[in-house]
Amino acid sequence: METLQVYPEKLSAIKEEIKKHHPDADLSVVDKAYSFAAKAHEGQYRQSGEPYIIHPIEVASILSRMRMDPITVAAALLHDVLEDTPVTEEELKKEFGEEIAFLVESVSKISRIEAKTHLQRQAETIRKMLLAMARDLRVIIIKLADRLHNMRTLHFIQNPEKRKRIAQETLDIYAPLAHRLGFALIKWELEDLAFREVNPEMYEYIKENVAKSREEREEYIKNMIEIVSEKLKQKGIKAHIEGRPKHFYSIYKKMVEQNLSFEELYDLIALRIIVNTVDECYTVLGIIHSSWPYIPGRFKDYIAMPKPNMYQSLHTTVIGPGGEKVEFQIRTWEMHKIAEEGIAAHWKYKEKGRVDREEEQIFSWIRRFVDWQKDVEDHRDFIKNLKTDLFPEKVYVFTPKGDVKALPKGATPIDFAYSIHTEVGHHCVGAKVDGRLVPLDYELKTGDKVEIITSPHQHPSKDWLRIVKTSRARAKISAWLRAQEREKAIELGRELCVKEFRKWHENFSRFLDEGKIDEIAHEFGYKNAQDLIYAVGLGKISARSIARKLLQPIHPKEEKEEKTSPKPPAGIRVSVDGMGNILVKFAKCCNPVPGDDIVGYITKGKGITIHTADCANLARIKPDPERLVEVEWKDQPSAKGALPVKIRVESLDRPGMLAEITQLISKEGVNIESANVHTTTENKAVLNFIIDVKNTDQLTKILNDIQKINGVLRAERVKR
Ligand code: MN
Repeated sequence: METLQVYPEKLSAIKEEIKKHHPDADLSVVDKAYSFAAKAHEGQYRQSGEPYIIHPIEVASILSRMRMDPITVAAALLHDVLEDTPVTEEELKKEFGEEIAFLVESVSKISRIEAKTHLQRQAETIRKMLLAMARDLRVIIIKLADRLHNMRTLHFIQNPEKRKRIAQETLDIYAPLAHRLGFALIKWELEDLAFREVNPEMYEYIKENVAKSREEREEYIKNMIEIVSEKLKQKGIKAHIEGRPKHFYSIYKKMVEQNLSFEELYDLIALRIIVNTVDECYTVLGIIHSSWPYIPGRFKDYIAMPKPNMYQSLHTTVIGPGGEKVEFQIRTWEMHKIAEEGIAAHWKYKEKGRVDREEEQIFSWIRRFVDWQKDVEDHRDFIKNLKTDLFPEKVYVFTPKGDVKALPKGATPIDFAYSIHTEVGHHCVGAKVDGRLVPLDYELKTGDKVEIITSPHQHPSKDWLRIVKTSRARAKISAWLRAQEREKAIELGRELCVKEFRKWHENFSRFLDEGKIDEIAHEFGYKNAQDLIYAVGLGKISARSIARKLLQPIHPKEEKEEKTSPKPPAGIRVSVDGMGNILVKFAKCCNPVPGDDIVGYITKGKGITIHTADCANLARIKPDPERLVEVEWKDQPSAKGALPVKIRVESLDRPGMLAEITQLISKEGVNIESANVHTTTENKAVLNFIIDVKNTDQLTKILNDIQKINGVLRAERVKR
């Protein structure tokens, strides 16, 4: 194949580089990936005019020098075939296996995401999202190398806006990622290349001044190195001392952050001392501090307290000869390697799945960095082959405008809707994900583009509380439901008042309009009529007591004595149509107990009576549907109270039957309100009881137990 010959010397160099760090590795996969990519990209050209394949080759070359394994390098050679050529993921899988196909597909996915959003607007979220999507840090590393080569060739792009956008994105997203992963060299290069594009005047200014000051200070630095070398030699320490290059962008950042002019930036004289052991680092520090006065605030011990990206060194600044400020970095070779190359310094893929302690430490650092990574369940799994999610508890999704929202894993379109706006949440009827309709309980996935469909007629429902994952959505839905509950309670309270007043032949609304209700609200301890009526709806105050207070002076003889409604027994409560804490009474006809299906019936002036849903009595009176309300038992399992229920037992008439049944019921801890027996012909007995039970379960158990008594024919509940 002719294409194979495009850059043979570059391919050999890459393979040489891999061999240095992975001497036993099989490099045939690299050859194969090269041929495959060269063929796929044949006929395509870069902006520079070179064959396109030069780009994947350069990316692979960067990675080989970062000590990456043959798999990563092969994936780098192939990294653009999915996006830019007709090659499919299936083909890649067939030709190169799952691992390479996965890496290439993941890199392509990131490219597609880039196209979906305005990256710089939410840099931090995007960085997390990229890490979340990658599921394997090698994907990010390939992406960084890809970006580095694209930045090196940025000047070939004609459109200045596009150049600027890419450069800004590099500063916002990729340089920080490189920093987080400890790739200092890549970070610096990315920053300086981007800086030149984003702020060319400043870049040139700093570059010129650095060059000027370099000339002036080179002599000084040379001198200083000699002096320090001599001092260390006297103490028997072998050290490598070098002048430290400063990166333009980091100078610029310091100028901005510390509001200093270029001249004021004192740490331009910077020396680095590299020694063999940690002990020597501190010895060297002592020698320097005893030779020149040091600036106390500038001393940093990053050996005892490493930076989150594993960086370790001693930093100190002294007033050197001639009053110049000289900044020292003191570190071991080991620390130096990590500082320059980051985790790559230790990255070995020789034996997948097996991890030495050092690597374990490094990866536990990755998990810790900036606490992005809080609860990975299994440390080992994460390390195994780097394919575990970096952020297993998050998903990142897009708004139609390309903004990114981070949501907890399992979040639904409702969570998303509330994350946009409360009103969007309240009226959310459905959602489209990447243009397709999905149900409200759809589980969002990273990369989904979500569009919420709203309707003014839609309202939150209790069911939503089971679906949502975010506390924001939950809080908003609950607040809405509570407000609704209040409205309903007020409506009910008002209705009860109207009915009560009618009994006195008075018009409640009139009193309300005239402000009379507001006036007496204070006497009941409430702010205004609204709150008072709400309290009536909740059953805290009876409509009757309001009527009495207001109307008795006018109608002294009207009051009729009425049986007070029995209060529900402590511990048993029902909620009325979604409202809590309503004062109710229980119908004597059907004696509902917790566990029964029940309905509420608004009785004239008396609040709500609870009947069983199948109450024959209620059916007979043909209730006004408007006065029927939905009710349900509350706090059922923990209910301590008990309600009366009628039971009827048929048995053979034999002595001691009543005693036996009574004993059985008492043993259950159930109170017997009344009991009577009568005998029939045919030698049978019928026993009627009223007993207080907690719920239908308890009742059923008692009935079953009674059935088992010798001589009992049947035991049943009576509802009439
Ligand atoms: Mn690329």
